Amino acid sequence: MRGLFGLGKKKEEPEVKEDQNIHNDSQRTDENIYIVQYDRKICIGAGVCAAVDAKHWEMAKDAKAVLKGSKQDSDNPVIWTREISESELEEVKRAAEGCPPSAIHIFRKDTGEKIV
Ligand code: SF4
Repeated sequence: MRGLFGLGKKKEEPEVKEDQNIHNDSQRTDENIYIVQYDRKICIGAGVCAAVDAKHWEMAKDAKAVLKGSKQDSDNPVIWTREISESELEEVKRAAEGCPPSAIHIFRKDTGEKIV
C-alpha cells in the first residue's frame, strides 16, 4: 500500500534555489544607483553630452559642460559627481560613450563596477 504513513512515498526533491535568489533580490532596492563622474578639466566643449542627454547636461558660458545636479569634489575640484537611478542610466551612458575625450564615467554605486 502506497502512501500509508509516508511509506512508499517518493522522496521529494528540495525546491529549486531560485526562491532564495528572489528573497535576496527583494532585500535590495528596486533600482541600482550609479555614480556619474565628470572631469571638467578634460572637457573640450564638444557638446555631445548636452545634445544627446539634455536632461542631465547643459553647456556653460565657458563652453564646458555642466552635469546638472552635480556636486564638486572637495579633494579634486575638477571632478563633479552625482547619483542617477537605473532608469536614467541609458541616457547618461549615451553621453558618456559619445564624449570624445572620455570626460564622463559611470560607476555602479554598490559594487564600484565601471560601466563607462
Ligand atoms: S561631450 Fe564630453 S567633451 Fe563634449 S561637452 Fe560633454 S563632457 Fe565636454
